[in-house]
Amino acid sequence: MNKENLSHGRKSIRANIKPRALIEEQPDLMGVWRADIITLFPDVFPGILGSSLTGKALKDGKWQLHTHDLRSYGIGKHRSVDDTPAGGGAGMVMRADVLGRALSDVSQRREPCPIIYMSPRGKPLLQERAKKMVDGSGAIILCGRFEGIDQRVIDHFQIEEVSIGDYVLSGGELAAQVMLDATVRLIPGVLGNHESTEEESFSNGLLEYPQYTRPSVWEGQEIPKVLMSGDHGKVASWKKSQSELLTRDLRPDLWTKYEP
Ligand code: SAM
Repeated sequence: MNKENLSHGRKSIRANIKPRALIEEQPDLMGVWRADIITLFPDVFPGILGSSLTGKALKDGKWQLHTHDLRSYGIGKHRSVDDTPAGGGAGMVMRADVLGRALSDVSQRREPCPIIYMSPRGKPLLQERAKKMVDGSGAIILCGRFEGIDQRVIDHFQIEEVSIGDYVLSGGELAAQVMLDATVRLIPGVLGNHESTEEESFSNGLLEYPQYTRPSVWEGQEIPKVLMSGDHGKVASWKKSQSELLTRDLRPDLWTKYEP
């Protein structure tokens, strides 16, 4: 076992400039993929990520989740985090100074990593982005609220904006959980052996073929005979052709990119 393996998953506490009362005491599992979430609603985490395979993996220390309450970096007695938009307009904007403090503090408590702001105007979240994210030490994820965040924070910290689709959510927390689910399930050991990410939708530029299970006849519909034939070669080529047909019909945009 090399040195890296020896320290992998060991708990460590990093030195910190923040008052102790404001620190959520969560030990760092060294070498374990880590998500730091900055949010006004830390209680909604891990949310759905605490269930099923991602939840088990979290408990088993195959990935780690650290939440940071943005309110604790707020200003004054009321720990204010937002203010009216410069130049007028509806709603409130999250303040640069408050976000700046939170981001600097969280960044110095972990390995270097990308900072991601969940944002409707960001690049759409794709499978490749989730795969790429697994390769690093993790991510700091900023969840917006109100009208969003002061642009200077995005520019100063060179933050990457990621969208989960062309619609507007009330906040970034659901979006962060979607992105984390897509990412964490790709961490080796998170899915059981029987769950494969190699053949699923988007892994090879195609949608997945249709799936069937018992009963062999349901409502008069049979499972395609080839799947019951035991001929692995025929099954594989049926799956490939079904993937291609489905992608061509349902997602012409993907098909155009894939088409040999
Ligand atoms: N004023 C913003 C706009 O028009 O683009 C929308 C702000 S939205 C009400 C509040 C927060 O929800 C955003 O700061 C962002 O963090 C999150 N959010 C909303 N829609 C999202 C999406 N499609 N993908 C990722 N995050 C989203």
